[in-house]
Amino acid sequence: KAYTATEIKKIVEEENVQFLRLMFTDINGMLKNVEVPVDQIDKVLNHKVMFDGSSIDGFVRIEESDMILIPDLSTFLIFPWGSEHGKVARLICDVFTTDGEPFMGDPRNNLRRIISEMEAAGFTEFDIGPEPEFFLFKLDANNKPTLDLNDDGSYFDFAPLDLGENCRRDIVLELEKMGFEVEASHHEVAPGQHEIDFKYSDAVEAADNIQTFKLVVRSVARKHGLHATFMPKPLEAIAGSGMHINMSLGTANGNAFYDEKTDDKLSPTAKHFLAGLMTHARALTAINNPTVNSYKRLVPGFEAPVYVAWSGHNRSPLIRVPQARGLSTRLELRSVDPSANPYLAIGSILAAGLDGLKNELEAPEPVDRNIYGMTSEERHEAHISDLPSTLHNALKTLAKDDVIKASLGPHLYQSFMDSKRMEWESYRQTVSDWEREQYLSL
Ligand code: GLN
Ligand code: MG
Ligand code: MG
Ligand code: MG
Repeated sequence: KAYTATEIKKIVEEENVQFLRLMFTDINGMLKNVEVPVDQIDKVLNHKVMFDGSSIDGFVRIEESDMILIPDLSTFLIFPWGSEHGKVARLICDVFTTDGEPFMGDPRNNLRRIISEMEAAGFTEFDIGPEPEFFLFKLDANNKPTLDLNDDGSYFDFAPLDLGENCRRDIVLELEKMGFEVEASHHEVAPGQHEIDFKYSDAVEAADNIQTFKLVVRSVARKHGLHATFMPKPLEAIAGSGMHINMSLGTANGNAFYDEKTDDKLSPTAKHFLAGLMTHARALTAINNPTVNSYKRLVPGFEAPVYVAWSGHNRSPLIRVPQARGLSTRLELRSVDPSANPYLAIGSILAAGLDGLKNELEAPEPVDRNIYGMTSEERHEAHISDLPSTLHNALKTLAKDDVIKASLGPHLYQSFMDSKRMEWESYRQTVSDWEREQYLSL
C-alpha cells in the first residue's frame, strides 16, 4: 500500500506503536533488523538512520562501513502479535551509501536494478507466485529442535493424522492478518511437511513476502512448541522442501506469456523467456540452491528436478508449464529451494529470462516422457543435461556464466562466491558418520 510519511506518523500514533523494526536482507538471505523506539520516527522517515555495514555478511569492509537505511513506505505493517511493551511495526528498507547511492551489496537494490532492465525491455511487472515448503519438528524440554516430526501425515492428508494442521491454520490466520492472500495450504508428501501458497505479486513485493512468510512461520510454530525449518533436505530418504517459483511477465496489455493465436497459447515472449531459463539453468542453481544441503534434495525419487528439461505434463521437470492460460499463463521453475535468498533468486531468474528475449533464444522441445527412466545415453541424445550435483559444481558453473554473474553485479558476485566457497571448503573437510560407517573397517 502506498503510504505517505504523514500517514505513517498518524497510524503509529493512533495505534500506539512503540517500536519500529527496520528490516533488510543480507547476502545469505537472512532477515536483519534494527529496532528503534517510536520517538525516533522522524529520523527514520528523514533517512537519518545509519548502521555499521561491516558487521553484515556480504556487505562492506570496516573502512567503508557507514550505511543508511531508507524505508520503503509501502512496506509499513504493524505486527499482529502484541508485546507487553506495546505494538511493533516494520518497514523494509533499501540500503544506501553515505553518498546517497543505492548500495549494490544490498540484494533488494540489486533486484530493483534488474527490474529496471526489464522495464527498459518494455515490461511493467514480473509476477512471482512462490510455493514454499517446510518441515515442523518437535521441540525438546529445553526448547531445542529435535528430529522428531510432529505428525506422520502425507500429501493432502486431514487431521487427526495431520497434527500440524492447527499450527498451519494458525500460520495462515496470522498471515492473513498481515495482508497476505493465502490461496492454499496443505500437508506435503513427507511426514511433518507442509506447504502454504500465497497470491502472486510483483517481484520486489514477492521477495519481501517470502521473507515475512518465513518469519511468521517460524514464530507461530514456536508458539505450538514446534520448530519450523526451511532447510532443503532435513532427513534423507524422504522428500525435501522446495520453493517452486511461478512467474510471468506483464505489460500494460496484461500477461505477456499468453497468446491466443498460437497452438499452445504461449507467446513468443514466453518461449524465449523459457529458453533463457533453460540456457542458464545450471548457473542459476548456485543462487537458487545455495547451500551444501540443497544438493541432497536435487536427487531422483522425491519430485525434485535433477535434469534440465521442460514439460507441460511431466511429473518433475525443471520447468513446468501449468495448463492454465489467459491471465494465469505462467512458467513454474521447480528447482528453487527455500534456502535461497529470494531477492537474488528472483533477480537472476529474471535476468536469465530477459537474456532469452534479448537474444531470441529458442526453447528446446518439451520432454514428455519420464526422464528418470532414460539411460544417460538416451538423455545425451535428447540434449538433456544434468543440474549441478554439488554446491561446488554449481559455483564452478556460475563462474562461467556471464549473464548470471552480471545479474548479481560485481559486489554481490564477489561476496557470494567468497562466502559459498568457504562454506564448501568447511563441508569438504568434515568427515561424516557415513564415511566412518563405510570405511572404518578398512
Ligand atoms: N517437495 C518437492 C520438492 O522438493 C515438491 C513436491 C510437490 O510440490 N509436488 O520440490
Ligand atoms: Mg504446490
Ligand atoms: Mg509442494
Ligand atoms: Mg508446484
